[in-house]
Amino acid sequence: MDLYEYQAKDLFAQHGVPTQSGEVVHTPQHAKEAAERIGGLVVVKAQVKVGGRGKAGGVKLAKTPQEAYDVAHDILGLDIKGHIVHQVLVNPAADIAEEYYVSYLLDRANRTFLAMASKEGGMEIEQLAVERPEALAKVAVDAVVGVDRAKAEEICDAAGFDDSVREQIILVLEKLWDVFVKSDATLVEVNPLVKTLTGEVVALDGKVSLDENADFRHPEYEALADFTETDPLELKAKEKNLNYVKLSGSVGIIGNGAGLVMSTLDVVAYAGEEFGGQKPANFLDIGGGASAQVMADGLEIILGDSEVKSVLVNVFGGITACDAVANGIVQALQMLADKGEPVTKPLVVRLDGNNADLGRQILHDAGNPLVELVDTMDGAARRVAELAAQGA
Ligand code: GDP
Ligand code: MN
Repeated sequence: MDLYEYQAKDLFAQHGVPTQSGEVVHTPQHAKEAAERIGGLVVVKAQVKVGGRGKAGGVKLAKTPQEAYDVAHDILGLDIKGHIVHQVLVNPAADIAEEYYVSYLLDRANRTFLAMASKEGGMEIEQLAVERPEALAKVAVDAVVGVDRAKAEEICDAAGFDDSVREQIILVLEKLWDVFVKSDATLVEVNPLVKTLTGEVVALDGKVSLDENADFRHPEYEALADFTETDPLELKAKEKNLNYVKLSGSVGIIGNGAGLVMSTLDVVAYAGEEFGGQKPANFLDIGGGASAQVMADGLEIILGDSEVKSVLVNVFGGITACDAVANGIVQALQMLADKGEPVTKPLVVRLDGNNADLGRQILHDAGNPLVELVDTMDGAARRVAELAAQGA
């Protein structure tokens, strides 16, 4: 889960990282009142979970409460890279002398954590990394040792921060590491970390991605969740405890076991090339016990996606045998029909493994004309892609 800037900066503040706290508001009038309370120069910032807000006109300074009203009026409702602004953060403005960049992230490729830092913050860091990679220091961080004072000094020196800010940045780096570890984050980024005209180092922006696998350790995160930007189908799947990820293609996918589903995505994408580039519409792993209810929930979510033209059910029977899965499919189709949402798109089913023959027999006997059995994974992928192309 990605956090809004204001949520990220709240986390920073909780861990002693110097930052500006302000007020989140939803209307120009409230922005004006917030600016009155804060006093002096304020900055009004779009709260959307996407970078580059500054360039898109989503970050503006306001000298008076009336100006805060006016800029909030401009920013609220803006479309920033597909994200509509519903709320703005009103912060006391900082007088910026210099803008820096620091971040910690999970470096999957190198199986470690990585610290990045630069004296040239503010701009988009991807651009800096491409154009002037030497200006962006990268220092591996051992997960066990973490960022102690020595590591913070190493990062600081690699980035070449000068003596006027070195001590403050070392402290920021140590505290940010606390944020990273204690929040179970996969990314903590500050861009810009600024030096003000009076020489203080302050985090002006914050980006934090939390590792959802650690949610069980953080009951407090429930309050941070904000579903206005979550895909509605993914939201519905989450309510039903389904492991579903929406993709952009036309072939719905249901399988058991994450590995099998991943390879099904690959095989379908490959087979789909022959049929005008049909692609998987989703990832859905129904796991071990493929009950009729889980199958019905899965089918309902997948068919709720109007892009879906055909569905592939790819199951390898193990502890849950294929006959149980086949009964699940038959009952699921019945349940949806009873609900007044009969399935109208073709289903290709491939069953293999434990009791596959019995499973196929059950589906065959059920005689639903929309259900086709194909014995091999490649064959099933090819057929389902063909059906998707016909349905398009
Ligand atoms: P982003 O564009 O989405 O990354 O949003 P940021 O929060 O990083 O803001 C973009 C830019 O606005 C920063 O790089 C600063 O140059 C400027 N900015 C943000 N806050 C302030 C502030 O308090 N005072 C001043 N003078 N400029 C600010
Ligand atoms: Mn930024």
